[in-house]
Amino acid sequence: MTATESDCLFCGIVAGEVPADVVRRDDHSIAFRDINPQAPTHILLVSIAHHPHAAALAAEDPRQLAGLVTAAAELAESEGIAGSGYRLVFNTGDAAGQSVQHAHLHLLGGRTMAWPPG
Ligand code: AMP
Repeated sequence: MTATESDCLFCGIVAGEVPADVVRRDDHSIAFRDINPQAPTHILLVSIAHHPHAAALAAEDPRQLAGLVTAAAELAESEGIAGSGYRLVFNTGDAAGQSVQHAHLHLLGGRTMAWPPG
């Protein structure tokens, strides 16, 4: 793990070099609205430190991984979707559609979602 990677989009958002609609920040994570939302609420929760995917974050800093879920639950409350329900997703690897190689948790809610996903 490195603290930041110069060519990483989400490291750029963490550093404030790339604009984003930030809704929450603490010492370990930042949360901002997805630029291409797939639900009325679609927020990305991103580790401050650069880890390439969720499994690497879990292996190297499990408390931070748990912190992303806790932060997502708090945001679900403040966004008004905790009661109706929400989905948390970590895409990992090409087949899952991971497009940014920096661990991030999708928080999706505000509509009914099919299972299994397409
Ligand atoms: P994934 O496909 O799981 O890697 O998720 C990456 C997400 O980042 C996608 O849902 C994109 O819409 C989103 N995204 C890409 N660039 C930005 C940006 N500049 N600000 C906010 N969200 C972004």
